[in-house]
Amino acid sequence: MTFRLRFTALSDVGRVRRDNQDSGYAGPHLLVIADGVGGAARGDIASSAAVEAIRKLDVPPGNDPLSELAATIHLAHDRLAEIVEGHPDLDGTSTTVSAAVFDGTHLAIGHVGDSRGYLLRDGVLRQLTDDHTLVQSLVDEGRITEDEARVHPHRNLILRAVDGVHEPEPDLFTTEVNVGDRLLFCSDGCSGVLTNDALAALLAIDPLETAASRLVSAALDAGSSDNVTVVVAEVVEDDDEASPPAFVVGAAASAPHLRISDESTGNLSDSEFAALEGLPIDPEDLRYAPQPPRRGSALRILAVVAVVLALLAGAGWGAYAYSQTRYYVSDNAGKVAIFKGVDLDIWGAPPLHHLVKSTDISLSAIEPYFATEVRNGKAVESLAKAEKYVAGLPLKCADTSTIPVPTTPVVTPTPVKTPTTTRHPKPAAGTTRTATPTRTPTPITLPSPSPSATPGTGTSGCTGAQ
Ligand code: MG
Repeated sequence: MTFRLRFTALSDVGRVRRDNQDSGYAGPHLLVIADGVGGAARGDIASSAAVEAIRKLDVPPGNDPLSELAATIHLAHDRLAEIVEGHPDLDGTSTTVSAAVFDGTHLAIGHVGDSRGYLLRDGVLRQLTDDHTLVQSLVDEGRITEDEARVHPHRNLILRAVDGVHEPEPDLFTTEVNVGDRLLFCSDGCSGVLTNDALAALLAIDPLETAASRLVSAALDAGSSDNVTVVVAEVVEDDDEASPPAFVVGAAASAPHLRISDESTGNLSDSEFAALEGLPIDPEDLRYAPQPPRRGSALRILAVVAVVLALLAGAGWGAYAYSQTRYYVSDNAGKVAIFKGVDLDIWGAPPLHHLVKSTDISLSAIEPYFATEVRNGKAVESLAKAEKYVAGLPLKCADTSTIPVPTTPVVTPTPVKTPTTTRHPKPAAGTTRTATPTRTPTPITLPSPSPSATPGTGTSGCTGAQ
């Protein structure tokens, strides 16, 4: 006996963001959620391109829907690589993907990132997907609880995505469904602010369309600052009733990936390039761990500029006094260390910085994103904030709550006498930006089918995206 799906989808830009980078799709044979990542790098293009590639599966599935799903996720990866290769301004864009192909009795699910799939049966909600996030890896190791993960400062950092650079490595598995089951696929703008109890209660509301709207409004009322997208479905008896048209919501509904790229040439028009310029920096820029961080921080740049300007004006003592109110966290012989002053050397003048605390934390043991940030010199306003930053540095597959920060005797700085304006170059280790991998077309490979795999068997290790 086979069943069919009733389905709907809804997406809301939310109350904070100016654009919607989520994309959703719901059809008779396919449910998809894609949450674009990249901020100014246009996550909307990534999520809409992914949905466009995967929606081809909304047809009666063949004998191996899991392999077909894996193949289309790789197609989305290849499509994104083509777009970014033609338009370097889009470097850094990526998207989560959670998709389910329905064959009448089972769901074949492919999943990358931190969007989620849920199944509600007899009032019990089961999360089908595992988050590919830093905090989930800490939860899996028993280092933090689910409740702690919800408020962790790095809870939004994802370790795997479809980005056109790294092989997407989706979790692939199947699950059986029964009549009456309700399904929810949603972006973190929904699951990140609603408890499982709330999700279960809202998903159970009749009719299905009301459940979708109540899920979105509840997420916004709960304080979600993100785009909120839900794709919901119910398994019903197959009564031969014709299915309604598919729902396409969010960024995919306006297909920005098609407008931005001339498919015959792959080129942006001048007006399209101009439209990309001047876009504000978005926190989404820093959401995906494999993306290298921006060089330096605004705080550090302001501190350096202030010191240089003060020295140029001849206010040597004032500059020195100012520099000694600052702190930064940087690399000291491969270990994380806290320095007082500013990360600046002036020819002929005593150092404007000195070591105040060293640690036993090796930079090689820290998540790559944060290791690069430390090498660049992370400026902070006080010693207390420096210690808090160090204590919060995420280790690879390890909790950071017990990182020791031993105090080390240090030298006493000497006042500035005759400052000049020559700046020494930074050490090479602190100035090297991670090279962008060469983008080459990736051949589509069909992974071996694993129809017997079960939910939760994904390999969401801390370094899985590297
Ligand atoms: Mg989101």
